[in-house]
Amino acid sequence: MLNAKYVVPALLSFFLCCLNAADAQNSRSIKTIIVDAGHGGKDYGATGSYEGGLGSYEKNVTLAISNKLVAALRKQLPDVKIIPTRTTDVYQSPPEKADIANNNKGDLFICIHADAVDLKTGRRQTGTHQETRYKVKVTGKGKKKKKTSTPYTVTVATYEYYKIGSQRAGTSIWLFAAHKTSDKIKALMKNEEDEEMNVTASSDSTYNSIDFSAPEYRMMAKVHADRYQQKSIKLATFIDQEVDKTDRNALGINQRQKGIWVLQATNMPAVLIETGFITNHDDERYLNSDKGQQELAESIADAVKLYKEQVDNNKATPGANVEVRKEEQRILKEAGAGKYITRTSTVLKKIGISQADFKVDLYDDGDIDGDMVSVYYNGKLIVDNKKLTDKPLTLSLTTATGIKENELLIYAENEGSIPPNTALMIVTEGDNRTEVRITADSKKNGVIVFSRK
Ligand SMILES: [Zn+2]
Repeated sequence: MLNAKYVVPALLSFFLCCLNAADAQNSRSIKTIIVDAGHGGKDYGATGSYEGGLGSYEKNVTLAISNKLVAALRKQLPDVKIIPTRTTDVYQSPPEKADIANNNKGDLFICIHADAVDLKTGRRQTGTHQETRYKVKVTGKGKKKKKTSTPYTVTVATYEYYKIGSQRAGTSIWLFAAHKTSDKIKALMKNEEDEEMNVTASSDSTYNSIDFSAPEYRMMAKVHADRYQQKSIKLATFIDQEVDKTDRNALGINQRQKGIWVLQATNMPAVLIETGFITNHDDERYLNSDKGQQELAESIADAVKLYKEQVDNNKATPGANVEVRKEEQRILKEAGAGKYITRTSTVLKKIGISQADFKVDLYDDGDIDGDMVSVYYNGKLIVDNKKLTDKPLTLSLTTATGIKENELLIYAENEGSIPPNTALMIVTEGDNRTEVRITADSKKNGVIVFSRK
């Protein structure tokens, strides 16, 4: 499970320039892979504490899988240096883990974790027991007032309380979210030797006093973040596919608007794998079994091998880059990273939703001037370049399970004849109706957050 302390619940997209397509293919072969066993030492991670659970600790599960993954990778890729962040039960802070990856100049960073959910408490009657209570009687008045209490016995139920294991099970993969760049930028800036830096860096020697607000540096950082994100998505896609080949439930790739510290701070493509739910009866047993650990390790190693082959093929085949670029764009699109990431996003309103399903109607606000919009819901494109009119554009939405804050993002395709692009949104949920006015333009997206009550 991700340590909440390092998971920044970020909502604001924050990108200033466009994808630099010409620069994005600069594949270098994979020479070093960092494998991180999540948590360790005093940081136990999640535990399997529920009725029927094994009471296992995430830090031990991640270490066992990581050790097997390191062995599998060394076997499959004998020419690649495989560096584990830890091989024993020691504590490392996320910055320490990121430093190991950066100092060893890793080409890939793979974090192994196990997932957990907050568990419900159950209660059952185990029998009855006797309790003594007292009947109090007051007699007399003033100084003669007297209190007598008579004991009597009652039979009451005896209950036992227990945690109920979660239903949720399966393997999911998490990525660095491109719109949270600050730690990634710092990691990039720290590494002065990085030859890739020179691709877009200006030739002046002010590396040590970089002004992060200067557009050229932001641009450079963005180009790098994009490059890593596409590669991370590619690796994540392979891992998801390999896991899907086993009997496990492959829950897919996750790059919601959340920052994951350890992924953002590493100067390389990075993925975090929630191998399974330690709070689920079957998953916990799988994660603690030799067979399960080995199967996961091999699935991940197979995916890394495929990824490396693709990187190597790109180098060997000039002209293949265009196709790869298209493929990356497709994966990027499927994984939900739309063109909106090139603009700043502003949360205009948060709306509490008490039911799973709700309806959103979109109209042009004010004068009908030909405003065109695209709409993304939780990063997925749901309306592609449609005109707003005085007739509603109706969206039937469902709050996603496991996501507290669902984001609806309005991307302005144009600004109509009267800028900016303005929309009136009416949200209907049961008998509740909420109106929101949304503005978006060529620099800003409008975001409405729906949080499940
Ligand atoms: Zn974890």
